[in-house]
Amino acid sequence: MLLTAITMMAEKRTVSSPDGRLVVTIDNQEGLLSYSVAYDERPMLTMSRLGLETDFADFTSGLTLAGAEESTIDRSYAMRQTKCASSHYVANALKLLFHNKKHQAVEVVFQVSDNDVAFRYDIPRPKADHPKAAVVRREVSSFNFPAETTTFLCPQITPMSGWERTKPSYEEDYKADDAMAVKSQFGQGYTFPCLFRVGSDGWVLVSETGVDGSYVGSHLSDYQPSPSGEQEGGCYTIAFPQPGENNGIGSVEAGVSLPYATPWRTLTVGKTLKPIVETTIAYDVVSPKYEPSQKYGGGRYTWSWLVWQDNSINYDDQVQFVDLAAAMGYEYCLVDNWWDQQIGRDRIEELSKYAQQKGVSLMLWYNSNGYENDAPQTPRDCMATPLARNREMAWMQKIGVKGIKVDFFGGDKQQTMQLYEDILVDANRYGLQVIFHGCTIPRGWEVMYPNYVASEAVLASENVFFTEQHAKSEAFELTMHPFCRNAVGTMDWGGTIMNKYLSRDNKSRHRRFTTDIFEMAAAIVNQTAVQCIALQPNNLQELPQFELDFLRQVPTTWDETRFLDGYPGRYVVMARRHGSDWYVAGMNAEPQAKMLTISMPEWAGKSVSYYVDDAKKGPVLRQLKLDKRGCAKVAIQPLGGVILTSKQ
Ligand code: CA
Repeated sequence: MLLTAITMMAEKRTVSSPDGRLVVTIDNQEGLLSYSVAYDERPMLTMSRLGLETDFADFTSGLTLAGAEESTIDRSYAMRQTKCASSHYVANALKLLFHNKKHQAVEVVFQVSDNDVAFRYDIPRPKADHPKAAVVRREVSSFNFPAETTTFLCPQITPMSGWERTKPSYEEDYKADDAMAVKSQFGQGYTFPCLFRVGSDGWVLVSETGVDGSYVGSHLSDYQPSPSGEQEGGCYTIAFPQPGENNGIGSVEAGVSLPYATPWRTLTVGKTLKPIVETTIAYDVVSPKYEPSQKYGGGRYTWSWLVWQDNSINYDDQVQFVDLAAAMGYEYCLVDNWWDQQIGRDRIEELSKYAQQKGVSLMLWYNSNGYENDAPQTPRDCMATPLARNREMAWMQKIGVKGIKVDFFGGDKQQTMQLYEDILVDANRYGLQVIFHGCTIPRGWEVMYPNYVASEAVLASENVFFTEQHAKSEAFELTMHPFCRNAVGTMDWGGTIMNKYLSRDNKSRHRRFTTDIFEMAAAIVNQTAVQCIALQPNNLQELPQFELDFLRQVPTTWDETRFLDGYPGRYVVMARRHGSDWYVAGMNAEPQAKMLTISMPEWAGKSVSYYVDDAKKGPVLRQLKLDKRGCAKVAIQPLGGVILTSKQ
């Protein structure tokens, strides 16, 4: 027995993907655990630390291997709200049991599928005479990339900063093609997901999934010198929330009930960007936490607030947006902040009745507060406690409201993760779907919570309205997110915008810089099962008929997603299938036209509808015949788009 233990201690352990190309090596040098990741024998992650510190046990050093267990996972499941309708997850798993010097146990679990690594820590419940109420103080898991790596990252911001002290809310600027050594904008590291380009050898997307009310949401630290036990150079580590989040109330640590399995840290690895865009790892390793109380439907919604702002939250303007939704065949209309004061509950009831007669359901906005920030908008204090929430939701159910948008959350501490979960659980009881704004990213929530729709957690369309500078960077943003933010979770960008100017009269203020076809393509590329189409009532008279026809039938749920071409922040072309219809959507953020060959074998020799920005005529609908291999050349104009679809 002793001999076996000693042999195991000295051993490096590896676990490979089913296709053998992705290899994780776990090493233990003098009690310091590390792992490294290679793809096609090229290092994607060099020796990076593993370990966890709890209040009752230190699992960061002095570890010895005490057991190993290999297994395989083969799991197929269906999804409703994500980039595809089903996933077949096949992975090799390795569970390693370690003891620290006090003989306390921790397990490290790795699951490796063809392009994804997921790992977590399992903390067993200690024996009778040991403490069992546990606090996880920190995690030393690190990510040590080869020196030539460049980054595509979004900074974490200082808490209680920004408008009405509502930060952090994952609404900062991504930077593309940056060096690792550059300090983050606020010195607070980076929010997930984090994209890395490892020279010309590959791409790695780092994120986490499976976070619920039993843990904190994590992010990545700034790039820092590697601790002992790693190779030279620097690394990023898992970072817990900042003390100042939630107005300084609540712990940055996680209180856990043992036995406990931490959320998964995930790495999506590929030679190209295809596995990054198509990954389902956020969903593959989590399970539904409850049954849906009813069949929830996807759909499109109109939203007055984006362009008409707070003044539009009155009965008559909302009737216009209900009518607009009805005219377009859309399922929902979102009534934004101040409705309780500017419309009132009695007239909201009336509005809901009116909307239902027109085949439209209302969604209502709520402020999550609480004490977490100064956001003044009402209704407030309706979502923070079970008593208020259940009263409010029962009323919504009674008057036929079908969804809520809850805004301005306090951060990533455990109590806020619990609040997200509590809102979702209660909302399901009343048949409400939930969109979060001013919030964190979802972490597997589309599968875990069947009535969860999407989160903002992005520098969203409201910024296109707010400033000309953001209107100019819209194309950059929307060609970045398919590779990072929207690759790991649904994203409520808040609307395909068809107004030429960001104003109610469609003449004043700054203009939109993207073309109509770009915006229409965004409705395909941006993924959320309940999608905002930010049409304005005036658009019904102004837009060409073929554009309105497209927006009338645009789907929001997808059976399959396929990456065709692109580079983060420059351009993207992807294909999504809804039923038997494929949609290919391309968007170009660069100042030159992009000439591309689209390859869709399904369309070999066929003609498809082709929406494109003609360099002279502007947006047009044509037919495009693909050759017998299913290839066709297209040009995407600067800040323009293309859409090809077999849908008649
Ligand atoms: Ca926001």
